Amino acid sequence: MAERKRMNEDETLRITLESNIDESYDIIFGARLFSRIAEDLAGLKLGSSYAIITDSNVAGLYGNEILQAMARKKIRGDIFAFPAGEQNKNVDTCVSLLNDLQRSEHGRDSWIIALGGGVVGDVAGFVAAIHLRGVPYIQVPTTLLAQADASIGGKTGVNTAQGKNLVGAFNQPKRVYMDVSTLKTLSKEEYRNGLAETIKHAVVYSSDFFEYLENNIQPILQLNENSLIALARMNCSIKGRVVQRDPRETGIRRILNYGHTIGHALELASGYTLSHGACVSRGMMVEGKIAHDLGYFSREDMKRQEDLLVKSGLPIYIPRDIDSSVLIEATRSDKKNFAGKVRYSLPQAIGRMHQFDGTYATAVDDAVVRHALHDRQTLL
Ligand code: NAD
Repeated sequence: MAERKRMNEDETLRITLESNIDESYDIIFGARLFSRIAEDLAGLKLGSSYAIITDSNVAGLYGNEILQAMARKKIRGDIFAFPAGEQNKNVDTCVSLLNDLQRSEHGRDSWIIALGGGVVGDVAGFVAAIHLRGVPYIQVPTTLLAQADASIGGKTGVNTAQGKNLVGAFNQPKRVYMDVSTLKTLSKEEYRNGLAETIKHAVVYSSDFFEYLENNIQPILQLNENSLIALARMNCSIKGRVVQRDPRETGIRRILNYGHTIGHALELASGYTLSHGACVSRGMMVEGKIAHDLGYFSREDMKRQEDLLVKSGLPIYIPRDIDSSVLIEATRSDKKNFAGKVRYSLPQAIGRMHQFDGTYATAVDDAVVRHALHDRQTLL
């Protein structure tokens, strides 16, 4: 016995790697921020040069502007653009970017700047995580969805043939610059995608924010800069607080999934012809009704949610040609399912999610889901 114990001790060597890493970062809000970004980079001397990863649309709109602002401060930057679109958020795009980076002079002391929407943020953040085993990166989100949601929280990654975001890494940016003036070139549909996530934030976390949206939806729709800065601040504060409490998505971060179980199923069932925001909006209506039918979400709160979605130009009905059974089947393919059960995060009231035995998600019977879906189709 003594002999056996000595052998184990001889065979085992423990490498102790306890860490307490501070990954905090600042988010800077404003309009026309490119000169400010260049000034900060020059003053802070963060990287020796900057590889700006962006997509083909954003490169055309803002590539020269950011390069010129950087050149005025004698900072070296190069654009690395990939073709725009969710279909290019894949491993091939990352490999091509990695090859381009490694053929360039952007080495270990160069930083990456992600300039673009959520697709660019997810791709560039992931490339930053794996290029030379990781280089720091800065987010400059240019869509409302990316400013409200995707650029905060450190989730990066790409899609595979098996599904969305199945390859990736948690990788926090070093800084985020929210330049609301970039939103002026965004299409109405893309803008509404971000509004759906914004309204979701208010429903799941803050009745004050919801009230702000009810009272300010007109200036927000007219892209008033002060309203957009206020909007970005509130969105980031909510996403930031949730992420701080649950950086690895094991608990409360689930509340951000409100509207997305049905929303993702709708995207899938429509063959991705319906936009993400339009699906999340309908998803919130169905999941709000499920919560109501289970006795949590009042009729008045459902109506307030509906009114704000409608005023924002978002759809609230499920197209009749999408069959409920197909949709329910599609909910089962969500990677957030656990032990084969489809789990929903459901609101208690505007600004607060229901807790189920200390968790924020619960399995719901198909019959309840079907009833809520039916409601959204027959009311059409
Ligand atoms: P996107 O990046 O594809 O941008 C939408 C379109 O707008 C693209 O054609 C883009 O070229 C264009 N565009 C971007 N900025 C523009 C501007 N200022 N003016 C004109 N056109 C502009 O899509 P998105 O909606 O920003 O983001 C969706 C992606 O974000 C999805 O892949 C989703 O999975 C991801 N996402 C990630 C997180 C996360 O936590 N990492 C959270 C939510 C969503």
